[in-house]
Amino acid sequence: MALHMSVSSTQDWMTCKRLYYYKRIKKYEKVAYNLPFIVGRIVNEGIAAVLNKKPDAIKITEAVYKKERANAIKAYTLTPEEIEKLDMQEFITKGMLLAYQTKYAKMIADMKHLGSEVEGALQFNDDVIFVIKMDNIVMIRKKKVLHELKTSKTITPDYVKRIQTDLQTAIYFHFHNIIFEDDPIQEVMYDVIRKPSIKLKKKESKQQYLERLQRWYQKPDDMNSAFHIERFKTPGISADDVINTVDKVSKEMLIAKTKEDYYQDFDKCHSYYGEVCPYYILCHEGGEIPSNLIQFGVRKSYHVSKDNKGVGK
Ligand code: SF4
Repeated sequence: MALHMSVSSTQDWMTCKRLYYYKRIKKYEKVAYNLPFIVGRIVNEGIAAVLNKKPDAIKITEAVYKKERANAIKAYTLTPEEIEKLDMQEFITKGMLLAYQTKYAKMIADMKHLGSEVEGALQFNDDVIFVIKMDNIVMIRKKKVLHELKTSKTITPDYVKRIQTDLQTAIYFHFHNIIFEDDPIQEVMYDVIRKPSIKLKKKESKQQYLERLQRWYQKPDDMNSAFHIERFKTPGISADDVINTVDKVSKEMLIAKTKEDYYQDFDKCHSYYGEVCPYYILCHEGGEIPSNLIQFGVRKSYHVSKDNKGVGK
């Protein structure tokens, strides 16, 4: 069977081969509540509804929030503090979307939303299929644009500098244009929304907080901006460079057989997306013993798109 790769499996491999082994070969998944992931899904669906000019975008977002909340409460034993934080998220997300709609009203009016979660599968070679799933594809003034949405605690000059060499954006852009060569993406819009740093005050109502949040989005209380959009005609990583990296990574993946082949890169043990690596106990506190493995479930396989319909034709 062909090796199925994706941006995240490539990134996992490049982060630490042993992490890839635990996550992709053994499919261990930490049974843990993760609020940022939940927030990411709510914001993505909300912004897609906003770009789609759905008149009830906020209501759609509220419904997504309610579904995510119910799922989280069913799946995990949450503390009262975690439930309170989750409940606040409904207002925070609503505040983000309202501020986004206001800030980019003209841009949204000029834009046609072509599709969200747009999937494609590139037969990279006889042994490898690379699957892509893009946040949004939009049309702006007759140009087909890849819209990459991110939320971030900060938008610093360093963060902005890294946008042009974001591997995910480069893979989506170039692989989309190989798969759909007669209908290519002509531009990238990298869209960053800041996560608010202000919290509900003790005597403040949720409505008052929502209003304060709107003011914060117009003028954050620090030097960072609340929004950043960067548009560029082509990513800072060329198609040849992307292909070379994917080719070399796929060859390494295909020859790895034993656990030892998936060797460890200890540099990331304490800095996996700003957190301790989820597999830390398996590498440093006893290994794959029953009392450690009890903390993990086994992840289901991905859905892989077979039909490259594309959007915008
Ligand atoms: S704990 Fe360190 S060595 Fe082990 S999988 Fe994570 S990053 Fe790799």
